[in-house]
Amino acid sequence: MEGCFACPVRCKKVVECQEPYQVDPAYGGPEYETLAALGSVCGIDNLHAVAKGAELCNAYSLDTISTGDIIGFAMECYERGLLTSEQTQGIRLEFGNAEAMLRMIELIARREGIGNLLAEV
Ligand code: SF4
Repeated sequence: MEGCFACPVRCKKVVECQEPYQVDPAYGGPEYETLAALGSVCGIDNLHAVAKGAELCNAYSLDTISTGDIIGFAMECYERGLLTSEQTQGIRLEFGNAEAMLRMIELIARREGIGNLLAEV
């Protein structure tokens, strides 16, 4: 745990890991909203993947709550057949697919493919 300057609450998480994802501690760790959005909403229980997602969002200056929620919405659309693999550049956007969640963060940040549409929401 760490805190912002002069704050006695010290609620900030610090995470560092090397495998299966390399997570830079400089970006901090996922706080509870991020755990919910990139984790529960997307059906992902891999804490390393959620921490990597938080790092990517912070690196790209993306809000983790909005990003995780829109990826979860896109997963719902994919599983209901409203989004196809062609529209997701072949990404199997299923709940629980950590690699898909991380790839979607990259696409949203770079506004590539389906990420360009999801970035508007
Ligand atoms: S409560 Fe947490 S986020 Fe807010 S200033 Fe303190 S350490 Fe930082």
